[in-house]
Amino acid sequence: MSKEDRPIDPKKIRKPMRHAPRGLLTQGVNILKETVHRLFGLPDILGFSVGYRPMKKIRIRVVILRDEEGTPLAEPHEVDHSWQVMAEIFRREAQVEVVPLEPSVIILPDPAPPEALDVHCTDGAWQEDSDIAGQYFRRYTAHTRWSKWTGYASPVTVFVVRTVSNIGGCSLGPLTEYVTLKSHMFRVKNPRVMAHEVGHACFLTHTEDPERLMFPKGPGERITKLEAIIMRNSRHVTYW
Ligand SMILES: [Zn+2]
Repeated sequence: MSKEDRPIDPKKIRKPMRHAPRGLLTQGVNILKETVHRLFGLPDILGFSVGYRPMKKIRIRVVILRDEEGTPLAEPHEVDHSWQVMAEIFRREAQVEVVPLEPSVIILPDPAPPEALDVHCTDGAWQEDSDIAGQYFRRYTAHTRWSKWTGYASPVTVFVVRTVSNIGGCSLGPLTEYVTLKSHMFRVKNPRVMAHEVGHACFLTHTEDPERLMFPKGPGERITKLEAIIMRNSRHVTYW
């Protein structure tokens, strides 16, 4: 059989990105919201850098997907430990209070599409955000009254998925208003992963210092003063 005669593997046929225009538009709008919010937050940066550190808030909702059979990927009580660890780290290290956006943990009513159950990170996540998975996540991303249009106090939605490549979770930083978290993370007692991904959503990047939260693997929980300034200046973190 010549190369030309070989049947094409259907898995290798790239699906058209039907949802790309909407996904790219949303990413662009999110960048704009983030930029404007950070500019308005400049006086706050100066205050924090000279020791004025009143508590700020970040609103979080955890959304658990169902697999093809309709089985939830996690039970709500499994989220508790990760939530507590995240709340302690943000309060202690950045003076940011984690506020549950009620209902704080929900299980979606219907099976999720396979594209949203098994996702990737970095370039793969960016491509998926512009396609079926991104459309699904945007449908269930949490908003407050003002956040959808202004970005102010925009909640971070944590989608509990089945796999994230071969890692524990992923965030596209300020491009999206959600992060993904592998459900298995709740069972292997790795509670800091949720805080790490929400840190990315607030524009924190990786470090090579194992004692810090933004070290990709390990028990580190420390957030530096500069990271705290960056996090507190995010559109997700506000006084009200
Ligand atoms: Zn990371």
